[in-house]
Amino acid sequence: RPRSLSGIQPTAESFHLGNYFGAIRQWVRLQDDHDAFYFIADLHALTVQPEPATLRTRIHRSAAQLLAAGVDPERSALFCQSHVPEHTQLAWVFNCLTGFGEAGRMTQFKDKSAKAGADKASVGLFTYPILQAADILLYDPHHVPVGEDQRQHLELSRNLAQRFNHHYGETFRQPEAYILEGTAKIVDLQEPTAKMSKSASAPNGIVDLLDDPKRAAKKIRSAVTDSGDEIRYDPETKPGISGLLSLYATIEQTSVDAVVAQFEGQQYGHLKVALADLVADLVGSFGERTRSYLDDPAELDRILARGAARAREVAGPVVADVYDKVGLVRGA
Ligand code: ATP
Ligand code: MG
Repeated sequence: RPRSLSGIQPTAESFHLGNYFGAIRQWVRLQDDHDAFYFIADLHALTVQPEPATLRTRIHRSAAQLLAAGVDPERSALFCQSHVPEHTQLAWVFNCLTGFGEAGRMTQFKDKSAKAGADKASVGLFTYPILQAADILLYDPHHVPVGEDQRQHLELSRNLAQRFNHHYGETFRQPEAYILEGTAKIVDLQEPTAKMSKSASAPNGIVDLLDDPKRAAKKIRSAVTDSGDEIRYDPETKPGISGLLSLYATIEQTSVDAVVAQFEGQQYGHLKVALADLVADLVGSFGERTRSYLDDPAELDRILARGAARAREVAGPVVADVYDKVGLVRGA
């Protein structure tokens, strides 16, 4: 069977609609016909220096949310990145194969480091896409389901795979990004030209999957819309209403055209109220499922331990092979 792999950072108390529709919903679907490896990118979360106690709870909350979203630990390896040391072991080799300028061109680094302030951004944030290349290439995946914002990092992974193969012999597959049109970029409700983001969005710009349903509905109803009153899809001149139309289509699993037709002749308010109801239902049931998983942290730990053991079976031999190929000698 082909393999699917992806990860998500425990950088907030809750995942948001963008994470779910852009990535996690595809993770769940790919389980049906792929060997799937899905991980909580806890080492990536360290790049922004979270409080230890905060990070600990977020890791558990992340696991519970992935299970609530439908990741099935019987079929997929669900694990913490830090439980599989091969990720950092391979990352070092890739660090040594990546140019300084090449890493500096990553737009996420530029954005996030600009936000932190030039001298405050960590070296970890700088090399994060290289660790991500290791995360991916260790599992030789055919598909990597992610949002549009990860396209450039995927490209770096492909380049590193090719470069390694060129220097040391055929080893890594060049993975394909699995990015679905329509859900690849769920936009911020207050700033509809930007993506919804755990770390960058203002509270009213983002619907968290663990939001109270009433609060989530209110955020949708107070989303920024454009001047005029015609419901029409045009991301250039009407980014606000277009974002809402495409979110509606995403949730209902239909086309934007069908949604536009459905609301033809109606006002913005009608679309907002209908979408607010859909979102409230979604987060309501998601929250309930998540809380039931959080009630049993020991079971979460067992699931993560099983997932890590399965991941290490795959990752261990890859690192051994790579270390051998680059000329390291085997220790006692
Ligand atoms: P952070 O702000 O901490 O980077 P994030 O919201 O970008 O958080 P990540 O953990 O970095 O979330 O990404 C997890 C997955 O969600 C990735 O596949 C990413 O491409 C996807 N994703 C994130 N935001 C969106 C969005 N607004 N629309 C679609 N996909 C998204
Ligand atoms: Mg991100």
